[in-house]
Amino acid sequence: MIIMTKWDKLLIIFIIAASIIGIKVTANMATNEESMYLVIQLDGKEYKKLIIDSNTKYTTIPIKSDHGYNEVKIEGKKVWMENSDCRDKICEKLGIIEKPNETLVCIPHRLSVKLKTNNSDVDIVSY
Ligand SMILES: [Zn+2]
Repeated sequence: MIIMTKWDKLLIIFIIAASIIGIKVTANMATNEESMYLVIQLDGKEYKKLIIDSNTKYTTIPIKSDHGYNEVKIEGKKVWMENSDCRDKICEKLGIIEKPNETLVCIPHRLSVKLKTNNSDVDIVSY
């Protein structure tokens, strides 16, 4: 009887462990699907690449180049351009991007900010 109980306990522990692992794997997969790459390009070259998801805290990325100054703001999966000293301010008027393949551009500063999904290849297109 004692041996049987031990085996029963082991079996229960095994089942619990397996289900926890199963839940964890599922949770990780869900998180991966939700996270995105933010790709910032300057002069057609990759300037910065970072992963963002809905838990990303409010962040400011200052971008200073020969062309001028921009600030890219991130909060969760929302990305927008602020405090640009470009002449047209179109980038600031573009508002918020939050979906894969959406892009912000500042043409006078030769700057682009693009959202990519985790599983899609990050291909660098030069402007
Ligand atoms: Zn601009």
